[in-house]
Amino acid sequence: VWEDCLRHIKAEIGEQSFNTWFKPIVPLKIEGQVLTIQVPSQFFYEYLEEHFIGPMRRSLLANLGNKARLQYSVIVDKGDESHKPMSVNYPTSDRKVNGKTNIENFSPFDIKSSAPTHESNLNSGYIFDNFVEGDCNRLARSAGYAVAKKPGVTSFNPLLLYGGVGLGKTHLVQAVGNEIKGQYPDKFVLYVSSEKFTNQFIEALRNNNIQHFSNYYLQVDTLIIDDVQFLSGKEKTQEIFFHIFNHLHQSGKQIIMTSDCPPRDLKGLQERLLSRFKWGLTADLQTPDFETRIAIMQKKLQSEGIDIPDNVLEYLAYSVDTNIRELEGVLISLVAQASLNRKEIDLQLAKDTLKNIVQDIDSDVGVDFIQKTVAEHYDVSLDDIKSKTRKKEIVVARQVAMYFSKEHTSLSLKSIGYHFGGRDHSTVIHAVQTVSDLMEVDSKFKDEVDNIRKKLQIKSYNR
Ligand code: ADP
Ligand code: MG
Repeated sequence: VWEDCLRHIKAEIGEQSFNTWFKPIVPLKIEGQVLTIQVPSQFFYEYLEEHFIGPMRRSLLANLGNKARLQYSVIVDKGDESHKPMSVNYPTSDRKVNGKTNIENFSPFDIKSSAPTHESNLNSGYIFDNFVEGDCNRLARSAGYAVAKKPGVTSFNPLLLYGGVGLGKTHLVQAVGNEIKGQYPDKFVLYVSSEKFTNQFIEALRNNNIQHFSNYYLQVDTLIIDDVQFLSGKEKTQEIFFHIFNHLHQSGKQIIMTSDCPPRDLKGLQERLLSRFKWGLTADLQTPDFETRIAIMQKKLQSEGIDIPDNVLEYLAYSVDTNIRELEGVLISLVAQASLNRKEIDLQLAKDTLKNIVQDIDSDVGVDFIQKTVAEHYDVSLDDIKSKTRKKEIVVARQVAMYFSKEHTSLSLKSIGYHFGGRDHSTVIHAVQTVSDLMEVDSKFKDEVDNIRKKLQIKSYNR
């Protein structure tokens, strides 16, 4: 009878799906009009129910008569007491889930031996201890920390962290994973990139190994899946992820995800998946400010036992404000340059290093450019502008240059002050205020400033 059903189903759903989903099924018994089949996992059962219920029902009715019923026997991984759904009656019409068959040692996906392995794929270097906290990451970090302390228990499930490249997403979610591992060594924490997940799934499809794939993921206690934007447009992978997600979430397992953009911009992700993301907490990671960039470098250097003068750190923090990976890259090159050439790390070496690796640092109107233009206009020297001289014409030039630095760059007041001989931010505020006030009352001065503005524009075009 089962053979007849299979033929029927195969004709309806096609070879590929058939091989994937029906080949692994073992017919157990027929009692009257009740057919019992054994499926390899809970996940498998759910998938069948959701996708192939029509063909199965039709084939059953055709071959067993109109009182036909189907029972499932689901193989449960022994020793995993969290998987108890077998005795649950699923609300799917006339089907009922029956007893279970325990089979020991399911070989987890992508491991050939039969010994279960719970390899986490975590990098032990990514921990909370060396993750510097700043305004840019405070919410994400504390949410991550809370989840690490009580995985699956807080309302931060799933936890979705998003932010641009190099801002610490991977570091942070791995820190959560490592923290959980440290506290609960028996928990199966799994870190996987969305790309790897996709490749494993494709591989499983190719080898008719879906049940191993899903079974492996359903054993996970904390699933960390990195860069979910990668799943965009990959319908089949999203589908299986959706099932895994639901299953883990329902059993109180923690799910942590990262993405390079907020969920609303995750084009190409199914709505039902996106709506799941909203169940938990979404937090973003932003570009770190000047102080945090300094602190991150200090942390890094401290762990390597390297000392770098403050002015060099400040110079780097000022110059590289894109992301932390880039900042680290520059720092590493600098240290390498110094040791290769047996040089002291000083400002000059930092500048030379930076010139070699970051070409476009001054590509838009930068402070240097503004200082030069303003100095030329007032016929004072660059050094004067950066000095502490209180000579009237130099003070004016300096204040105008500060004013334009504020207007034309995205630098913080502190960074601007740094470029004017290490003044503090209140000096910059004062300068900006003074120039604005003067322009209001002194039309000649205003014309002058407008002239400089034009020069800046023309010069920046011609660069
Ligand atoms: P993303 O995954 O967002 O692209 P990563 O987590 O790979 O970024 O971070 C890039 C680099 O910056 C890593 O070497 C990481 O250790 C470091 N990093 C990021 N954020 C911090 C932070 N807050 N404190 C210390 N290091 C950080
Ligand atoms: Mg990353």
